[in-house]
Amino acid sequence: MHTKKILIGIVILSAIGIHSQLAISQQPMPHPHPIQYRLSFRQAATHRVDVEASIPTDGAKSIRLMMPVWTPGSYLIREYARHVETIAARDGTSNQPLNIIKVDKNHWKVDCEGVQEVVVDYVLYGREMGVRTNWIENEFAFLTGAATFLTRDDALDRPHIVRIDAIPEWTDVATSLKPLETRDHWTRRAADYHELVDSPIVLGNLDLQSETIGGATHHLASLGTDSMWDTARAMKDVAKIVEIEQKFWGETPYQEYWFLNLATESGGGLEHDNSCVLMTSRWTQRQKSKYVDWLSLVSHEFFHVWNVRRLRPRALQNYDYNNEQYMRELWVAEGLTSYYDNLFVVRADLCTTGEYLERVSKDIQTVENSPGRSVQNLEDSSFDTWIKFYRPDENANNSRVSYYVKGSLVGLLADAEIRLATDNCKSLDDCMRLLWQRHRTGGYTNADVEAILVEVGGEPLRGWLGSKLRETTDLDYSRLLACYGLKWKDRNSDSTTAPSATPAMLGMEISNQGGKAMVDKVAVGGAAAAAGIQSGDELIGWDGYRITQEQWSDRLGLYRAGDRVAATIARRGKLLEVPLEIPPSKPLSWNLVRTDSPDEKQQERWRSWLGQGSSGPEEKIEKGE
Ligand SMILES: [Zn+2]
Repeated sequence: MHTKKILIGIVILSAIGIHSQLAISQQPMPHPHPIQYRLSFRQAATHRVDVEASIPTDGAKSIRLMMPVWTPGSYLIREYARHVETIAARDGTSNQPLNIIKVDKNHWKVDCEGVQEVVVDYVLYGREMGVRTNWIENEFAFLTGAATFLTRDDALDRPHIVRIDAIPEWTDVATSLKPLETRDHWTRRAADYHELVDSPIVLGNLDLQSETIGGATHHLASLGTDSMWDTARAMKDVAKIVEIEQKFWGETPYQEYWFLNLATESGGGLEHDNSCVLMTSRWTQRQKSKYVDWLSLVSHEFFHVWNVRRLRPRALQNYDYNNEQYMRELWVAEGLTSYYDNLFVVRADLCTTGEYLERVSKDIQTVENSPGRSVQNLEDSSFDTWIKFYRPDENANNSRVSYYVKGSLVGLLADAEIRLATDNCKSLDDCMRLLWQRHRTGGYTNADVEAILVEVGGEPLRGWLGSKLRETTDLDYSRLLACYGLKWKDRNSDSTTAPSATPAMLGMEISNQGGKAMVDKVAVGGAAAAAGIQSGDELIGWDGYRITQEQWSDRLGLYRAGDRVAATIARRGKLLEVPLEIPPSKPLSWNLVRTDSPDEKQQERWRSWLGQGSSGPEEKIEKGE
């Protein structure tokens, strides 16, 4: 889901040198028995792809086929095999049918004694618009490797080749998979199954922009952006982010990279070794804050090239496509990536420092206003991602904390602590690079990260991280404020009257369900919960008058903190009258702003944090060298 010490050109140049050596030494040896797929889209109008998989048997009497239950980067068992509709096997030479039987939810066994090659024909349904699922229709197709390709479960290391029988109207294919032969861009090869899983494919009519940065080629392939996007400008802005992140890490571990930008009126992003998927709206670029959200998403997914794709938690070193992989380090993999995503956008001069502080303030409010912060700690949030994070229910805010958002705040505070402890000579940036250098091979644990924080920040950092990861006490922002010369500004501070009521002040959210105003969520400890309102109640009246979901927010705004009202609700068909008092506004409707007269040290830390040219909250930052 969003840096700064500039290294000198020599490092970049030597990284380019390494590329060309790798290019020579990694020339794939042609394997005599690759696994091959043919994809045909004759049923695309009904969201189906016909897959023909040709699988060598190597003389085995039977083979086992596997389809992953999840895909790396999105930690939820998604049961991709549920979209396999029909499946049959035949002898690749004689076309005689072979016995195929399903042995568990994502494995099949094919009897193939005396057969050289098994051909498996299956029909796959794909109509879930998301960055880790499939979408198939006449206009375009988006294919996720794990959701599309079954393979022989003992042949993951073998090359996999994909031939695409495209719909005649489709002109382009965008994927990091290399063409098998230079002139046939519809046939692609993966060195092994892992690369296939890690290489989403977009088919259709695309707007393609490319730019060489740091010796590597970068493509922005956009779908559905139509005339609403200026993709040349987007490519220019993406290039600024690429350049600053390459310099941050001091190494560019790829030769070619694809930003797959799908304007499909959906959201989210997913990282891969040599590409990422971004889902957005065709209107995104027309609105500054939405566009900054998109740039932050670009920055986030691209940061994953290093953090999480190549530098991984130890438990995630080798992917297990059949089972959950438990880890306590997602606050690093996702949280610190979230800290840096916004930071690179401001350092690349793509938003103002004022806009940056607003984004950070929003994250602080998200955590500090959620009762779940006192219930779940960061390590548990990471460990339980498989059963909690991707399955939010009406109680989610009361029972858990996001390792993305709280992880990013721990990064923000750690960065300030290190700058304070080292007289601004070191920062979290140095920790990230050490982590990369030392643990890129073999992975890392939270203990490794803790050791590096102490090594870089010195004794003041000893024991600092433990409580943030394993306890639920509130984060203390006072040293953050002192570090950069910041203060809180109450949004209502200019008003002489009590603040207008908001749903957040009451601690309840309602939505329109079939014309009814239904209470979705009630925050533990909030005024609505104290009055006895529950999730699932229907709100019918407010202060003696009929109310609809559309009217409620505006009507609420007519009341002030301290007012007493009665809500009329229906619970399982029974009418109830619930008296409640509108509480004062929470302190955390406050925003972070700069103090009027930061001292010299604070100004120095502020500049090295956000960029060399940043001297005022509304001032634009000069682009870093
Ligand atoms: Zn992420």
